[in-house]
Amino acid sequence: MIKIHDKNFELYLSEKEILDAVKRIAGEIASDYKDEIPIFVGVLNGSFMFVSDFLRHYPHPCEVSFVKLSSYRGLTSTGIVETLLDVPENIEGRNVIILEDIIDTGRTLQELVHMFSNVNVKDFRIASLFFKSDVYNGEYAIDYFGMEIPDRFIVGYGLDYMEQGRNLRDVYQINKAHMINLVLFGKPGAGKGTQAGFLKEKYNLKHISTGDVFRYNIKNDTKLGQLAKSYMDKGDLVPDEVTIDMLKEEVEKNPDASGFIFDGFPRTTAQAEALDNFLDSRDMKIDATIALEADDEVLIERLLERGKVSGRPDDQDETKIRNRFEEYNQKTAPLREYYQAQGKFHSVNGIGNIEEITGRLSSVIETLC
Ligand code: 5GP
Repeated sequence: MIKIHDKNFELYLSEKEILDAVKRIAGEIASDYKDEIPIFVGVLNGSFMFVSDFLRHYPHPCEVSFVKLSSYRGLTSTGIVETLLDVPENIEGRNVIILEDIIDTGRTLQELVHMFSNVNVKDFRIASLFFKSDVYNGEYAIDYFGMEIPDRFIVGYGLDYMEQGRNLRDVYQINKAHMINLVLFGKPGAGKGTQAGFLKEKYNLKHISTGDVFRYNIKNDTKLGQLAKSYMDKGDLVPDEVTIDMLKEEVEKNPDASGFIFDGFPRTTAQAEALDNFLDSRDMKIDATIALEADDEVLIERLLERGKVSGRPDDQDETKIRNRFEEYNQKTAPLREYYQAQGKFHSVNGIGNIEEITGRLSSVIETLC
């Protein structure tokens, strides 16, 4: 792991892996252009190492030149591409091969193609050492590339983060802040709410209780609230997509959270799948599902006590309580299996004092950090 300015990066590609890719591109181009004298045009600054190693492995006559553009400020592409060093002279009628270090959205490439479009070259091709194919949305097909890489910011081997890191021989990938996303299960009275309250403070998590989210949306008459209400008014169940959309909003409202505690959702395996798909689309995942377990008889005693104080009628009737437990058992059994199959299911003893239980939950969470 290395630190550049404020960011941590972890080793991603070794010098050898990079050089193998460079040699491969040089070999491919050499076999296509062995009967020509191409001009290789390196795109500064990032491609200087690539151009240098490429030329060392290019076995036939060739020329080299450079252009300079700039579209990155820090970690994200600004979309503004400036020309700092223009198209080389005397390239009319020549075979031009652009040597790019990395192609991301393709904006820079589009500008390059445009820069060369006024010149009557014999042919024009693009070679890029790294290619972020998932985010590339240009029209131009990349003729040669060394490696397809995911959409994560990299440094080293000519590539910089705020001008540093270009001299690294290996390539490093930015370390994404590790998130902890939990699903909390527990029978009524198991202390889920209390524990979620402690965990969210301790780990900077956002507690998303589906019940609260529903009540919030309905109370504030949001579009999703109105939609949910339209089903509830007819006595129908709110479809999973509506609930998922509400959760999406909650997740998006909290970009700084170090993770989320999902409470009250999922309740079915279909919902668990929908949640997985949604999180996957945000490059997130559930790290653990924790069930706060407690013996029914202990919980009944707790709930009856709570009922005496709160006056909540469903906490005062033992038969009703047992029915709620039964419903919980039936509903969570398939979910248990679902998360067990992913190796994410943990069960925690919910009997004891509050700090003891927080301690048990924390030891599960700390295995994930
Ligand atoms: P595009 O215009 O294709 O979005 O971005 C291309 C330019 O952005 C590259 O020439 C490079 O300067 C910069 N760039 C794109 N992705 C990365 C990356 O992961 N790391 C670094 N250091 N620069 C990048």
